[in-house]
Amino acid sequence: MTTRAYIGLGSNLDEPAEQLRSALQALDLIAETRLAAASALYTSDSLLPGQPRYTNAVAAIDTALAPLDLLDALQAIENDQGRVRKERWGPRTLDLDMLLFGDQVIDVPRLKVPHYHMQARPFVLYPLAELVPESFCLADGRPLAQLLEGCPFVGLERL
Ligand code: ATP
Ligand code: MG
Ligand code: MG
Repeated sequence: MTTRAYIGLGSNLDEPAEQLRSALQALDLIAETRLAAASALYTSDSLLPGQPRYTNAVAAIDTALAPLDLLDALQAIENDQGRVRKERWGPRTLDLDMLLFGDQVIDVPRLKVPHYHMQARPFVLYPLAELVPESFCLADGRPLAQLLEGCPFVGLERL
């Protein structure tokens, strides 16, 4: 049995668009996992001042892994692509966030799903909307359309 999961990708260092392209290939190479679809790339200014502009996308994957094993695989890809963890929200070559894992709500110290900041982030919601039906609801029941209404397409450029 596989689960459809959605992964948010972000980068603002070392050729962000290339980082995202190679991360998409890496997602397809995770054990028991395949890449099902990917959104366009979007760019936006960093939420924190003084950082380079971000490039973001969302991927849909189908996986037979358990959520924490998938998180391990995502973090291994971040590390492979040179992610250095210094301060939280610092500039990074690659960020892979598990936005949704089927219809599961997960709340353990290492993993909160649905991803806790996604409802306020246009660079997550608009690419996600490319990959799901209009009537799509998050695992906790919130309709994506409602989240989009509260999160205007401001400062976002679709490549
Ligand atoms: P943000 O979470 O605001 O997007 P970030 O992505 O920069 O910030 P990271 O440094 O990538 O944060 O991750 C910090 C920690 O968040 C990780 O060690 C991981 O265990 C935890 N985490 C909790 N929920 C998730 C999730 N849904 N996806 C990825 N990591 C998560
Ligand atoms: Mg993140
Ligand atoms: Mg992260």
